[in-house]
Amino acid sequence: MNKVYIVGHKSPDLDSVAAAISYADYKNKLEKTDKYTPAMAGEANKETAHILEKFSIAKPEILDNAKDKEIILVDHNEFAQAVDGIDEASIIEILDHHKLDFKYSEPIDVMIKSWGSSCSIIFHLYKSHKIELDKNLAGLMLAAILVDTVITKSPTCTETDKEIIKELSQLAGIGDWQTFGMEIFKVRSSITNLSAAEIIKSDYKDFPMKAGKLGIGQVETADLSEIEPREDELIEVMGDLMKANGYHSVILFITDIINEGSKFLVATSDQAGVEKALGKKLENSRVYIEGIISRKKQVAPMFMEVFDK
Ligand code: MN
Ligand code: MN
Repeated sequence: MNKVYIVGHKSPDLDSVAAAISYADYKNKLEKTDKYTPAMAGEANKETAHILEKFSIAKPEILDNAKDKEIILVDHNEFAQAVDGIDEASIIEILDHHKLDFKYSEPIDVMIKSWGSSCSIIFHLYKSHKIELDKNLAGLMLAAILVDTVITKSPTCTETDKEIIKELSQLAGIGDWQTFGMEIFKVRSSITNLSAAEIIKSDYKDFPMKAGKLGIGQVETADLSEIEPREDELIEVMGDLMKANGYHSVILFITDIINEGSKFLVATSDQAGVEKALGKKLENSRVYIEGIISRKKQVAPMFMEVFDK
């Protein structure tokens, strides 16, 4: 039987890895098969490795190239974010919660909901089809939803996500999901042992726009002052990254999840344009903006408004 790989985006985050694992489990059970194989489009990040270990779930294999393979995309649909070789793969399905930017030569199944995480959609499927969900997998999915919704604080978090968080907490035997969420963010934002490049790339996405390619990275922290001493170093490395890879701009925004705002660090070929997008002047290539915490719902659209028209 042909393997079908279920894979999330490059620079995998917890949701894209948890979605691959849980969707493979769901589909294998539903179709009474074992052909669905979870995979990652790169090395697992810190909190992903931590959570997999916590719930004793094996790390999925890394898929370097999707050429000639059967693929289900989860947690993304844009080729710019997908595993290498995706244009020579056979895509059979998409499950996602991002804006749709996808063209294909054949009809395929697409499930996109405007919910806070891919794992919310997958949990909804388990429930609808009465598929058994084991305790550890429930914990993994809960963790992914808590990260994607910034413990329900993100504007991307819906009432449905909040209901699902409660249900998964019970299934996973986790009494206090807020505390559990803060624990994950502590692991996630501990940058002590990371290089500047690792910090920038830890949750990083390319956005091809009419003005050029923008790279937008996000770091979430409970304590902005932890990163402050490294801001100069980060901006310098972002400048190198921009020149070496032909970016129009490289943006890193560091989100303070307690105060719900973000510090933007910027390397760009068009400072005036970036200032227009942000609605603020940069000072020394950086600026703090209150109320901005979501790349998908806030930051990417702000830049598209200026650079993709
Ligand atoms: Mn993701
Ligand atoms: Mn997601």
